[in-house]
Amino acid sequence: MTHHANDAEIDSTVYRTLLESTKAIPWKIDWSTMRFAYIGPQIESLLGWSPSTWVSVEDWAARMHPEDRERVVNFCVAQSQAGTDHEADYRALTRDGGYVWIRDVVHVVRNEAGDVDSLIGFMFDISERKKTEEELARLQKELEELSFKDGLTGVANRRMFDSVLDVEWTHARRNNQSLALVMFDIDYFKQYNDRYGHIQGDDCLKRVARALSSAATRSRDFLARFGGEEFVLVLPETDEKAAIKIAERCRNLIFKEQIPHEHSPVGQLLTVSIGVGTIVPMRQDEPLRFVETVDKRLYLAKQQGRNRIVNGP
Ligand code: GH3
Ligand code: MG
Ligand code: MG
Repeated sequence: MTHHANDAEIDSTVYRTLLESTKAIPWKIDWSTMRFAYIGPQIESLLGWSPSTWVSVEDWAARMHPEDRERVVNFCVAQSQAGTDHEADYRALTRDGGYVWIRDVVHVVRNEAGDVDSLIGFMFDISERKKTEEELARLQKELEELSFKDGLTGVANRRMFDSVLDVEWTHARRNNQSLALVMFDIDYFKQYNDRYGHIQGDDCLKRVARALSSAATRSRDFLARFGGEEFVLVLPETDEKAAIKIAERCRNLIFKEQIPHEHSPVGQLLTVSIGVGTIVPMRQDEPLRFVETVDKRLYLAKQQGRNRIVNGP
């Protein structure tokens, strides 16, 4: 045996071990026969079907939720025929009759003549993400149906905040991700009402809500009216540095509104005080305690002179 052959053998063992020890499930389909040339053994622990039962593309299509099948099969066939890499989300049937959300990422392999030779890909278990998305979509629908909406500003109310924080908290804990909260309180708003009247005070709250909602840019970023002249942002998958940046952007946006506040002891314009906190939630942590921590920082911002951001201790 030559040294090189030995190397190649080691390589293929290493590759196989790597492929079969990831959470993603590798597979290969031979284009001319439309049969599985390979599927990772991990498929069995995810769906319950042993690798040997994945014979042809029909097995793949048959083990798909009926509501997803036509859309996904048509899409994947068309993309493959066109020789385009693609991905598709669908519910895969488990052996005990349940479903698991899968993201299938497909790469088209061509031969030297340029014709499609095979498809290789990875199946990812995305059920956790889908569950979060579904819960958020349900809440979003309730928000549209008004019971979770603040009547004055049109942003989400406190009840909605509690629900969204719960969903994002669970998601962050399961995925070991950082979750950020940014809490706002308008400075000397009592004096604002005293000087300009409640009607204009209401109008001011609407402007602040609009300005703050334009600061959040990602689809899952979420703004709520927390109390009278208090607002809160929930920022999933956001670390400390990014959260502070967004808080600064918010302070600038309020400044750019140039809302006169003649009786404010901290200046001629309306300002806000801001508390920022981030957490990678552990099992023993509680959302309410985290809200309290950030609220304390907001209080510190007030104590330290208002119109500022506090992100510790
Ligand atoms: P600080 O800088 O310490 O936050 O002072 P502040 O005056 O903003 O705080 P305080 O809590 O003393 O007063 C909050 C004021 O916000 C009192 C209340 O009348 C006013 N407010 C709360 N909700 C509304 C509302 O819906 N409309 C109007 N116009 N004012 C409101
Ligand atoms: Mg307040
Ligand atoms: Mg205030």
